[in-house]
Amino acid sequence: MELLTIDLFKAMLRQALEEIKKREDEFSRLDAVIGDGDHGTAIVTALSAAVKAAEKQTEFKALLNDMGFGVMLETSGSTSTLLGAFFLGMSDSASGIALDAAGVKAMFAGGLANVAKQTQARIGDKTMMDALIPAVEAMQASASADVRELFEAAATAAMQGAAQTINMKANYGRARNYGERSIGYADSGASSWCCMINAFAECIIN
Ligand SMILES: [Mg+2]
Repeated sequence: MELLTIDLFKAMLRQALEEIKKREDEFSRLDAVIGDGDHGTAIVTALSAAVKAAEKQTEFKALLNDMGFGVMLETSGSTSTLLGAFFLGMSDSASGIALDAAGVKAMFAGGLANVAKQTQARIGDKTMMDALIPAVEAMQASASADVRELFEAAATAAMQGAAQTINMKANYGRARNYGERSIGYADSGASSWCCMINAFAECIIN
């Protein structure tokens, strides 16, 4: 597949929301191990706002911009700040009604760059960055002109990254205080972002 169209991207967003909703309780339980247990609700609320905002637009830049502001205006907290920053960063780096492989790579690189401005967390800190950074890097490393293969590479890397958080000690934010107790559980944010990226890939492949 040479082009990611705006309609396919909207379908990917809807599928991501569906998959995230199915696992809402699991994400909240994971968050409760080292936090306040609200991550499932937070990610469902934030992504719902983004998907709702996406429906009206027919072009990538405007669509992603509306999604970012939709998240930020309708919800608050770290989950919405990061998700909103992701879509706004993507908006800065995408335009038109269809994206080729280079366009998809640039869009996701822009998303990650803007998230990285909002959080100090990096690989190994047991946060959503453990899923997002490897996913975007795997996409950038792919030489394929097939946009499906880019999402496949991203999903594989996100799953590996999220699985690795199980053995990590929380090293960031309030979760840091729980230290050793966080070991043995996947990070809630890494799990939900992995779920979203995986749903994108499943939608475009099938
Ligand atoms: Mg929380």
